[in-house]
Amino acid sequence: MSPSRAKDFQQCPLLFRFRAVDRLPEPPSAAAVKGSLVHAVLERLFDLPAAGRTEEAAQSLLDPEWSRLQAERPDVVSMFAGPEDLGAWLAQARSLLTQYFRMENPQRLEPAEREMLVETELASGVLLRGFVDRLDVAPNGAVRVVDYKTGKAPNPRFQDEALFQMRFYALMLWRLNGTVPARLQLVYLGNGRTLTHDPVEAELVALEKHLDRLWETISAAAATGDFQPRVSRLCDWCSFQSLCPKFGGEVPPMPPEGVEHLLTARAAPQ
Ligand code: SF4
Repeated sequence: MSPSRAKDFQQCPLLFRFRAVDRLPEPPSAAAVKGSLVHAVLERLFDLPAAGRTEEAAQSLLDPEWSRLQAERPDVVSMFAGPEDLGAWLAQARSLLTQYFRMENPQRLEPAEREMLVETELASGVLLRGFVDRLDVAPNGAVRVVDYKTGKAPNPRFQDEALFQMRFYALMLWRLNGTVPARLQLVYLGNGRTLTHDPVEAELVALEKHLDRLWETISAAAATGDFQPRVSRLCDWCSFQSLCPKFGGEVPPMPPEGVEHLLTARAAPQ
């Protein structure tokens, strides 16, 4: 289970099934690909020696990273109506990089990890998996988990939802290393705001219990094939409306190999 799949199931069990069991392809979205592009540039930026991590250097990484993304996933070009559309989208990515330099000075940072795959099994046997954008370790050993967001910071009413992913990472790191990260930090490039939270053991214990219960529910749904659709405003962005009974579609038979894959996933050997 990853933070995204856990959120999918909580949002709509049928959406979770299409993504995690059927593993159906989805068309690229301009917002998601822009996020991947900006993340890739920020990751590459830290390959440079500290003095070279300037905004100019980051901007010069954008075109090669965009070429790499297109080579990996040629269908991304279909997102644009024409060169003007693409130019405007690239300009947005460039302004997000400009915003990054208003928020942090990468010349003063030496990340311990970037785009780090974290996997751990809870005591119940549930496998958790996620990619941490950046891990900073202070000289005193305090760990800060950093995640870049290309959107805007949420309204305070929805902050808890935004922190779900970060607490998920904190739980994994705690279970792996035995130490609760000192700080969780979301860097919202869309409006230049930062959301920080210092987690404590009690909230991670509560999250672990919640994830165990969620996994029990998911396993039961996989055993019976009963993944119910749940309509919400997020349906407007769902790629699977044509297969959803709530929108007049017909759900395809569930592939047994998808269920097998879901229920037997194990952590990769270290
Ligand atoms: S359209 Fe809505 S209800 Fe249907 S699968 Fe997608 S998110 Fe679920």
